[in-house]
Amino acid sequence: MNAILTQPFKNWGLQNTARPLIIAGPCSAESEEQVMDTARQLKAMNIEVYRAGIWKPRTRPNSFEGVGSIGLEWLKLVQKEVGMKVSTEVANVKHVYEALRFGVDIIWIGARTSANPFAMQEIADALKGVDIPVFIKNPVNPDVELWMGAIERIQGAGITRVGAIHRGFSTFDKTRYRNAPQWQLPIELRQKMPNIPMICDPSHIGGRRDILQEISQKAMDLNYDGLIIETHCNPDKAWSDAKQQITPTELGKLIGKLVLRSVNSDNVDFIHNLEDLRHQIDKYDDELLNILEERMKVAEKIGEYKKKNNITILQPDRWHEILDKVLEKGKNRDLSDEFLANMFKAIHQESINKQTRIMNE
Ligand code: PEP
Ligand code: MN
Repeated sequence: MNAILTQPFKNWGLQNTARPLIIAGPCSAESEEQVMDTARQLKAMNIEVYRAGIWKPRTRPNSFEGVGSIGLEWLKLVQKEVGMKVSTEVANVKHVYEALRFGVDIIWIGARTSANPFAMQEIADALKGVDIPVFIKNPVNPDVELWMGAIERIQGAGITRVGAIHRGFSTFDKTRYRNAPQWQLPIELRQKMPNIPMICDPSHIGGRRDILQEISQKAMDLNYDGLIIETHCNPDKAWSDAKQQITPTELGKLIGKLVLRSVNSDNVDFIHNLEDLRHQIDKYDDELLNILEERMKVAEKIGEYKKKNNITILQPDRWHEILDKVLEKGKNRDLSDEFLANMFKAIHQESINKQTRIMNE
């Protein structure tokens, strides 16, 4: 992704513009001591940007909803005494004015807010004429257009330094993640808005410490521009999101283990071999397309035959037979059940579409 944006945070007023940008700090500011202790440890590790939630969007009332504006005083101390840039979440116009009044360096807009165009427009209007960098988290629902719309509203207010944060999506199914990453959505956003830097929030995707490393690595392998990771001086005692927060020391280990791969190489052998392998892939893709075309022609013939004999299109038994057979054969071919089921569902759906058209002709 940074093939497009070579220095994504060039004008963001940061000292270190090398990839990845790391933003770290607690889910919520809880006390002056907690804010300062965490910040000092992060500063000692050369982390430049601090995060802390001041107003917390909680699913149910009567849980900790943030300390409010007093926390902004502590963030000021982080700027002055520790020497870090500070960032926080804003969800309404009042939050914007308070954050600006206290000189917060970077603001972000949370996943519940970016899902709401009215809220986004109000925040954008409140930011008119202000030169502050803004990150926009993906909306809770998996809708790239909605995410783009939120970004466009902020850009429409004249804000030039705008970034996106991928924090995963709410799903009905329970998965191993707190919020399903659905990596194809941020990739799609990146294709549609190549000049928006993209950072990953493994804390809210994972919801638990043990998978932060793998999510962060995946983000690096997809060329994300940075990471925002919830870090707390005493994570087990955190007032919000305790299960996913880590200590600054653990953050240091996580960063140390990250493998950063480059997008391009000048090595002639490498380029040559890669071209050769890509050529093979292109050849197989052509074959796949030819086979799909032939398969659909047969499906159409079946459609005509069913029409003539007044038989319904969908034959559940036949579909289950196909799927079972494919999954069984896939076992010896190192093709996962999930992949095969998804692919054959798509093929089957297209056959049904074609047969429906024939029936209605
Ligand atoms: C957060 O960053 O602490 C937060 C509330 O995130 P999200 O909007 O992604 O849920
Ligand atoms: Mn949190």
